[in-house]
Amino acid sequence: MHCPFCTAVDTKVIDSRLVSGASQVRRRRECLLCHERWTTFESAELVIPRVIKSNGVREPFNEDKLRSGILKALEKRPVSADDVETAISHIKSQLRATGEREIPAKMVGNLVMEALKRLDKVAYIRFASVYRSFEDIREFGEEIAKLKD
Ligand SMILES: [Zn+2]
Repeated sequence: MHCPFCTAVDTKVIDSRLVSGASQVRRRRECLLCHERWTTFESAELVIPRVIKSNGVREPFNEDKLRSGILKALEKRPVSADDVETAISHIKSQLRATGEREIPAKMVGNLVMEALKRLDKVAYIRFASVYRSFEDIREFGEEIAKLKD
């Protein structure tokens, strides 16, 4: 690729390693002309099914929306950015593995809940309380009790 700083053609890879649970390659590159360095990420582009919302509207899977939902639930929680990215790539591979062309939005929500349950119990409860809109404090208490098992 061309240098993003000076557009020179000659660049070299100075470091290469697997990230996000080995589903991505992170490369450090250096420009041979201006010696600036930058990072690129490489991952397989596979089709993720479209999402059917509860009102029947179909929309393309939106990774940014997924990420912002997860990050909101994890606000001020001790979970690393790497763990978040690993969880997101895991959710994406689960969606691809369905082999479906369209999947209900509910399924994405359930995968997010499972991921958060593993990452951070507080974030899980935050997400679940919004997503499942617990009817009352009893239902909320039941969910917390389940976590203790
Ligand atoms: Zn350059």
